[in-house]
Amino acid sequence: MKILHVYPKQTGTRPIHITIPKRYTYFWEIASFLGNQKNIKLKSIDCLDHQFSIFDLCKIILKENFSIIILLVRVENISQTIRFAEFLKTIDDNKKIIIYGDIVNFIPDFFKNFDCFDAIVTSGDWELSLLNYINYIKDKSIQPSGVYIKKINQEFKGEFLFNNWKFTDIKNAPINFYNNLNRKKELTITVARGCPFNCRYCFASCTFGLHERRKNTTEICDFIERNKDNFTSFKFFAPTFNSDNEWVLKLCKEIIKRKIKTSWCVTSRVDLLTDESLISAMAKAGCYKISVGLETINKSSIYIKKQFSKEQIVTVAKYCNKYKVILKGLIMLGIPYQTKDDIFELFSLMKKNNIVIRPTSYSPFDEIKNKKNIDITDIQKMDKFTYYKYGIKGLTKKQYFQLIVDPDNFENILKQRI
Ligand code: SF4
Repeated sequence: MKILHVYPKQTGTRPIHITIPKRYTYFWEIASFLGNQKNIKLKSIDCLDHQFSIFDLCKIILKENFSIIILLVRVENISQTIRFAEFLKTIDDNKKIIIYGDIVNFIPDFFKNFDCFDAIVTSGDWELSLLNYINYIKDKSIQPSGVYIKKINQEFKGEFLFNNWKFTDIKNAPINFYNNLNRKKELTITVARGCPFNCRYCFASCTFGLHERRKNTTEICDFIERNKDNFTSFKFFAPTFNSDNEWVLKLCKEIIKRKIKTSWCVTSRVDLLTDESLISAMAKAGCYKISVGLETINKSSIYIKKQFSKEQIVTVAKYCNKYKVILKGLIMLGIPYQTKDDIFELFSLMKKNNIVIRPTSYSPFDEIKNKKNIDITDIQKMDKFTYYKYGIKGLTKKQYFQLIVDPDNFENILKQRI
């Protein structure tokens, strides 16, 4: 069966380079899994590569006989995906169109309203649900677990893989193109899926479930050894890398034992990093950067139910500085109850402790989850770089965005008179 797998072009305002890691994990890893299945001939196109337009895609579709079109939907490409699917249906109604993506998992009912989508992945691991749908199209007696079927208006509960998702097949992905955009030769690989914390503003738990699953450390090391000469570093994608520190230490030991010379970075939580020997082991195994969601402090941190003590932050920073690991603090601006003084206090603490300050805008997706009649623009504008809703008490909108584009200059920005 011939299948086309497309990452439609983005129309949102997100900087392109920050979308590269998830192009690997959400698109090329899915492509690797499906492309390895018997009797499936998969063609995967990321429209960012070669700047494919809807017209270019239609040219390919009209020339080649694909039975199913799989579209990856993200916040920044919703309108383009719908336009493409609607157009395609007007020229060839026989092709089945199925969509998947984090925003699809989050608000499936919004997407169910569109007649152009024959099916929607609503639960389970994406590649498994997509495979179930492909098998269902071949044989209607097979249950399409994880998929909503528009024609019969029925949703089938999905299942998760244990840990046998695939890493990107670097022969197929536009590696050089991504490296140029990303300004570094870094490959992202999914080492864990699922997150038990289920923070209200994050898609991680609703996308890959609450139950965490981790790759086998041998498989990770084998892959790095095979591919390390093509990349200067790897990003180990896991919602919370350190939620199983026994596994982290096992991975570090194996990298050290095999003498793999590479560097890698992760995203984690400060409350899981307060052990000096752990940071030391990670650094020894090549960890060059740890990003942590510090988000906010004081009353606004109670609102988002994510609180860390200043002592925890300072302790982790001390260990990272000692072992020469960059500590990057991800901050959210515009959370209800956040004040100018909170920002000054948090940024000053970060500066003093050599923590890289990376603010983005708080985008409260949970507020639209149960809303009736959501508009596409309501969703697309929540892009973490230009979104503005609650603001920050004591700051102008201009100061707010100045903090996002020039956080290291926060003292001067916050000094400005309103
Ligand atoms: S913000 Fe981090 S801890 Fe919270 S759900 Fe997302 S990945 Fe998990």
